[in-house]
Amino acid sequence: MDKIAHAKELVAEAIKKYPNVAVACSFGKDSMVTVDIARKVSPDIPIFAVMTRHKPRETFEYLVEMDKKMALNTLVYMVADEVPAILKENNIQVKLLPTAGFNKAMEQYSEQIYLTNPDECCKLLKVDPTRAAVENMDAWIAGLRNTEGRIRENYEEVEHKGGLVKYNPILTFTEEEIFGYLKDNNIKLHPWYEMEFPDGKKYRSLGCAPCTKPIFPDEPERVGRWQETSKCGGECGIHTQILKASKAKFI
Ligand code: SF4
Repeated sequence: MDKIAHAKELVAEAIKKYPNVAVACSFGKDSMVTVDIARKVSPDIPIFAVMTRHKPRETFEYLVEMDKKMALNTLVYMVADEVPAILKENNIQVKLLPTAGFNKAMEQYSEQIYLTNPDECCKLLKVDPTRAAVENMDAWIAGLRNTEGRIRENYEEVEHKGGLVKYNPILTFTEEEIFGYLKDNNIKLHPWYEMEFPDGKKYRSLGCAPCTKPIFPDEPERVGRWQETSKCGGECGIHTQILKASKAKFI
C-alpha cells in the first residue's frame, strides 16, 4: 500500500510540476500498473504507445481491448506506411512515422535486422518514435523497475536527461507486487504472461515477438529479451539514451 501511495504522489508531483506530461505504455504488466495508477491520480492524463511491425498480434489485440476497457485514448506512434487494420478498425489514433530509414537499414543489415543489428533496429523502430512522441513534452512517466535486470538496478525515481524529465513511479515494485496489483485491481493480463511451457518457462518481460523468449522463474526478468544477440537481457535504448536535447520549460 505504501508503494502505491508513493507512486501516486510521484505522479501527482509530475503533473503539478510539468503539466505537459504523458504516460508511456508498452501494454506489458508494468505499463498497465503505471497507467492505472496515473489514471487514478488524473483520469485524463495522456497515454502514448510506441508499436512496431514486430510486436506480437496479441499485443495489438490487447492494446485495443484495454484501450476500450480503460478509456485510455492511446496515441500510437509507429514506423509504418499504413495504420495496421486492427488499429484502424478500432479507431485507435496512430501517428505514422516515415519508413525510408528502416527500409534502408534492412537493405544494409538484412530483413532480420533484429538479429543482425538489434541496436539499429530498436533505434529506428522504438527509440526514434519515442523521441517523436516526447518532442513537445516536458516530462514523461514510465513503468521501469529496479528489480527487472542489471541495467535498471540504479535508476532513480526522477531522472533529468537532456531537456526531459522522466518519472518512474513504480521503480521499487517487485515482479510479484506488479502481478498482485493487476489482480487486486481486476486488470486483465496480456495473454502471453499466462502461457505455460512444458519446461516451466514463462514470458516475464514482453517486447517484439522475435526478441522475446520465455524464461525460468529464477532467472533475471529481462533475460528473455534479445536472447540470440549480444544485447541479451539489455535495453532497447528508450531508457538509456537522451531523447531530447533542447531545454525543457521547467516550472
Ligand atoms: S525489440 Fe527486436 S524487433 Fe523490436 S525494435 Fe528492437 S530489435 Fe527490432
